[in-house]
Amino acid sequence: MGLDHFRIQDLINVISKFHNLFDIVRVVDPVKKRVVDYDERGECGQGSICYDFWKTGMQCNNCVSVRAMTENDTFIKIEYNDNKTFLVMASPVKIGGTSYIVEMFKDITDTEVITILKEKGIMETNSIIAELNEKSVTDELTGIYNRRYINEKLPTDIYNAMLNQKELSVIMLDIDYFKVINDTHGHIVGDTVIKELCKTMKSKIRKNYDWIARYGGEEFLIVLMDANQGVAYKISEKIRLALANKPIKHNDLTIWVTVSAGNYTVEPGVKNYHEVLQAVDKNLYKAKKNGRNRTVSSYCL
Ligand code: GH3
Ligand code: MG
Ligand code: MG
Repeated sequence: MGLDHFRIQDLINVISKFHNLFDIVRVVDPVKKRVVDYDERGECGQGSICYDFWKTGMQCNNCVSVRAMTENDTFIKIEYNDNKTFLVMASPVKIGGTSYIVEMFKDITDTEVITILKEKGIMETNSIIAELNEKSVTDELTGIYNRRYINEKLPTDIYNAMLNQKELSVIMLDIDYFKVINDTHGHIVGDTVIKELCKTMKSKIRKNYDWIARYGGEEFLIVLMDANQGVAYKISEKIRLALANKPIKHNDLTIWVTVSAGNYTVEPGVKNYHEVLQAVDKNLYKAKKNGRNRTVSSYCL
């Protein structure tokens, strides 16, 4: 469990004690991706962008702070910055009813654990750490992002879209009658179908802009940045038709597969990413109920 119901002054006192244990202690809003500035009277505004510290120019994959916020628990990871390696600990805290994360960094560059890696050189050490962090948000079977990534990225994407008055659309796709495919041809063929669907989805979205993740077994989430309902519908239908019109080959088997999709374009005032997931799920359910192999979209819950 995290620190709960602190006054800012109490928190500052606690943090000053932590400085003996950690090299850097800071308070962040992980959804807004901002360090929170404070003085003895309390919060005094938004500070720097939190991930600027890591000098990669982009949000971290494996953001333990969003995870700490979502799961109200403490999480750790290893991260690097130039030639320094840090143990990062993220703990939730409530200040005046608002949730923040206390991030505590310990420089572990010269510790035993890292010395083993250091024999490989700083560049290789950093790339091993990056790979580990990437792995924790990647689905093993398909190589696309996993559910953890959805939980860490979607809240920030929604926040940014609302802030910049951009339209953000989400598609949830589910393979039709997938159990029959597994039961008829076996799980290995089922896995091939899942991988082929991922290839199709990847080929229909904008690289480095939109993203795809595996939401569950054979359910996938596509997040389309700066895309209205019409754009989302077109992309969703492109994927659906590409699949419906081209059979999947596995050895000498030819398998016809269809998918159903629920779309939702985030509206101003949406409270959190759970509402967005509920909305796409509801539309996906309608697509299934209305006969499958179709897209159902709407703005409304
Ligand atoms: P519907 O049209 O209503 O979606 O019917 P369905 O048969 O596809 O039903 P459902 O979506 O509930 O099917 C989920 C199945 O997906 C059950 C599970 O055995 C299978 N599954 C989940 N993950 C994997 C996986 O990684 N590989 C394979 N081969 N099958 C999986
Ligand atoms: Mg299914
Ligand atoms: Mg399913």
